[in-house]
Amino acid sequence: MDPSYQYVKSQTSDKPRQDWNHYFMNLARLAAERSTCDRANVGAIIVNRENRIVATGYNGSVGRKTPHCSEVGHAMRDGHCIATQHAELNCISYCAKEGIPVRGCVIYVTHFPCLNCTKAIIQSGIEKIYYGEGYRMDDYALHLLDLNGIPYEQVTLEAPEPAVAPTP
Ligand SMILES: [Zn+2]
Ligand SMILES: [Zn+2]
Repeated sequence: MDPSYQYVKSQTSDKPRQDWNHYFMNLARLAAERSTCDRANVGAIIVNRENRIVATGYNGSVGRKTPHCSEVGHAMRDGHCIATQHAELNCISYCAKEGIPVRGCVIYVTHFPCLNCTKAIIQSGIEKIYYGEGYRMDDYALHLLDLNGIPYEQVTLEAPEPAVAPTP
């Protein structure tokens, strides 16, 4: 019996497809845009072995009742804003709250994690870090990752293509 369908290639079918690393890093960047502490616009995405997103996070105030830095200013101590929870920890604590396993997952972060987030990442069973910006990499965090066999890989994104004006 002849099939009731036929394969027809569209004109854009040669367009290269975004690979997983760029896809998730772009999503981490998008999450960072929700950050309410502009001292660090960081976003993070935790992804499981099936390339499914299990959590997204960004830097922001703790709980539902704490005002955001963008509303009341930063709570500064020793040159750091202490009001916020970092994007990576926000992802991990959301998974703790909802009982979502992160063992064997990977994390995409727009900036290399700080020492505390690195510790939480290692302890939670996350197996690889993909990071965007690599400046201010804590050498003790790197030491801990190396000791524990957790690889970290930089994913750089090209500048976004200039927006094309819609044709009227
Ligand atoms: Zn702040
Ligand atoms: Zn951190």
